[in-house]
Amino acid sequence: MPVTVEIERRNGGDHSGQPAWQCPRCHEGADPQAVKANLQVCPHCGHHLRVGARERIAQLADPGSFVELWMSLRTLDPLSFTDLETYPERVREAQAKTGLTEAIVAGTAQIASVSCVLAAMDFGFMGGSMGSVVGEKLWRAAELAAKERLPLVCVCSSGGARMQEGILSLMQMAKTSCAVDIVNEARVPFVAILADPCTGGVVASFATLADICIAEPGALLAFSGPRVIAETTRETLPPDFGSAERNLALGHLDAVVPRAELRERVAGYLRLLEGGGDDERRTAGRARGRGARRLATAATRRVATLVSHARRPFDRGDREVAGAPEES
Ligand SMILES: [Zn+2]
Repeated sequence: MPVTVEIERRNGGDHSGQPAWQCPRCHEGADPQAVKANLQVCPHCGHHLRVGARERIAQLADPGSFVELWMSLRTLDPLSFTDLETYPERVREAQAKTGLTEAIVAGTAQIASVSCVLAAMDFGFMGGSMGSVVGEKLWRAAELAAKERLPLVCVCSSGGARMQEGILSLMQMAKTSCAVDIVNEARVPFVAILADPCTGGVVASFATLADICIAEPGALLAFSGPRVIAETTRETLPPDFGSAERNLALGHLDAVVPRAELRERVAGYLRLLEGGGDDERRTAGRARGRGARRLATAATRRVATLVSHARRPFDRGDREVAGAPEES
């Protein structure tokens, strides 16, 4: 019996009259290399495509300046979680797809010659979801920024908490918020770049606690997506609901910055916030560094207490511990 097999050409562009790359918004075609050279922005309509963590770092950091840290951190499977696949299987697939170990890449870099701690999230890795490793890397990035007196820059793009880690993923909201306290206390700047989409537990924690919050044009920034809100409230939402531009108009953002200007704009903010002469900065920096370490210790205790409480929510004794006054 004859068997018919349909073969679809994946590469090589023009065989079906379709361009090799087509803009999802304006549907105009372009050369993929030209789009990449244009920082993954449509050359026709300016639509900002999503960018993976490595490409994002290459766009922002000076060539060869990025040194990745904490690469060996791997998530566990604390709940032995399984839906259609097990959690470890999903992680392995995401690793194979993105070439990353987790949904965030962090390290030190220079942006237009300004040294900083730079972290970038990758929506392609399980929707950029925030689990224990994302929280821990963000925490370590904040500690390093405080200790070395370097500004912290984070590109935030996420669908929210990683449900496969249950309550432990929600705990990362508290942990990363405490991490922002560390950089605040050390008085080093924290700049967050919110990229499409930035939603859920990330937009509701560290991403919007930065000294300066900027976003890319057209990025969706919301706790829940428009469809969920429209279905829940049964109201018609404005067409620009959750867009970066609407968030700017409502005062949730400091600026909406096109990708082509991001690098210079962020470097400009960092230079502006650095201020003061070198000697003055060093002296003040040492004192602040000591304060930051004390705060980090206190914050670690707070998080440990909260995690312990979350693990044993029905233990009366634990509740008393969680309600005990904080150490200063
Ligand atoms: Zn376009």
